[in-house]
Amino acid sequence: MAQSPDKQNTLVMKFGGTSVGSIAAYKQVIQIVADAKKDWSNVVVVISAMSGITNLLIESAQQASQCNDHCYEQAARTLTQKHNEILDALVHDELLKQATSQSIQALITDFSNFCQAISVLGEATPRAMDAVVSLGERMNVRLLSAILQSAGIKSQCVESSTMIITDHHFQSARPDLAETKIRTQAIIHPLLEADIVPVITGFIGATPQGVTTTLGRGGSDYSAAIIGISLEADAVWVWTDVDGIMTADPRMVDCAQTLPELTYSEVAEMANFGAKVLHPKTIHPIVQEDITLRVCNTFNPKNPGTIITSDEHMDETGKMKAVATISGLKLITIKGHGMLGVPGVASRILAAVATTRASVPLITEASSEQSICFAISMELADQAVQAIQNEMAAELNNKDIDSVSMTDEVVIVTLVGPGMRNTVGIAGKIFMTLADHQINVISISYGASDLSLSLVVQIEDLEKAVKALHTLIC
Ligand code: ASP
Ligand code: MG
Repeated sequence: MAQSPDKQNTLVMKFGGTSVGSIAAYKQVIQIVADAKKDWSNVVVVISAMSGITNLLIESAQQASQCNDHCYEQAARTLTQKHNEILDALVHDELLKQATSQSIQALITDFSNFCQAISVLGEATPRAMDAVVSLGERMNVRLLSAILQSAGIKSQCVESSTMIITDHHFQSARPDLAETKIRTQAIIHPLLEADIVPVITGFIGATPQGVTTTLGRGGSDYSAAIIGISLEADAVWVWTDVDGIMTADPRMVDCAQTLPELTYSEVAEMANFGAKVLHPKTIHPIVQEDITLRVCNTFNPKNPGTIITSDEHMDETGKMKAVATISGLKLITIKGHGMLGVPGVASRILAAVATTRASVPLITEASSEQSICFAISMELADQAVQAIQNEMAAELNNKDIDSVSMTDEVVIVTLVGPGMRNTVGIAGKIFMTLADHQINVISISYGASDLSLSLVVQIEDLEKAVKALHTLIC
């Protein structure tokens, strides 16, 4: 790879959908890449689809599976129009414009053909969905690479399906990191040697046989992490539309502020709890290598955003740093006198829940062992209750279990901060604050993590709870 004594070595920058959602946004990206090239020997770009495109592709394929062809025909026109609008505004060389437009158009033709096949079959398999949804990123790398070239930056688009090798778990594939590293270096190093900025599709991989897979919704951050570790990059910067990771959702709390620095574990705790800024899987691969991760704002590049550092930098003060939330949940409670002292009840209940493929963000059990309660996404709650009733049919029949019940919608509100578990008085402060604001706490989870305390409240209390708890953040 190229190396220059007065520059840092390798930077991977990922731009999310909103960073490539308008002419103005693409212009910002050009400037950011040009600036990065001044400071770094090797600049690699990973991008998502244009804002809104992935949703459009999913919706079209789903409609096609119900034989509603009108939807994808309309979507094909929208795709052409959106990409051409940017191309016309930002690519000036006629030949380049034409070549780019043709290769984007070829993908739009693929899109229509895929949807037509889905419509004929009357079903959109996960494999077919991946073929369709990957098109958003594939169109966009062609577009951005042409835009960079037009701005005088040598660039080439790269399909990550030639580099990121995954298993066959369509729509949520897992990468084979060893194989991916070999392929990524083989493809990207020669480009960097030639001072070319590779523009790589986020979100996408392929099986060893070359069948397209995707890494799950929002997976482009994860792609950037995979490419960062494969290239042994010094830094991965994730460009988004907010000033880094904030102390709370600014739509709920006016005085929410950017956190200049967070440790890997703190941010992982927040990623779990719906801080939509980083895809949860992004942190883990980066934490193992010593790569600096930064989250910054495409529309405010002067703001340093949030730097995510290794856990060695964690201060053990018990300071509360952020309030994160997950909404769209229900609590399921299983009660029964016959559960006391019987081994294996919890494991059977959770195994039954797992058959619905729901993940469980919070669990509590009464020390009397006569009730277990857990949170689950609203969409899967009915299914989970059914699965538990089936698994526990004999116990329900014998009245060892009295009931399996479910609440209305609830939310989890989590306070994140280092050393919370070992700090005297933290729980007291939190509950006093909630009581002062007349907020009822339905359930609590504390102690499993050193870094957080989670509370379940009713959906109606969400905003009030977040505002109240944010007053505890110093
Ligand atoms: N375009 C994909 C999605 O919307 C991946 C990403 O944006 O990270 O889920
Ligand atoms: Mg994203």
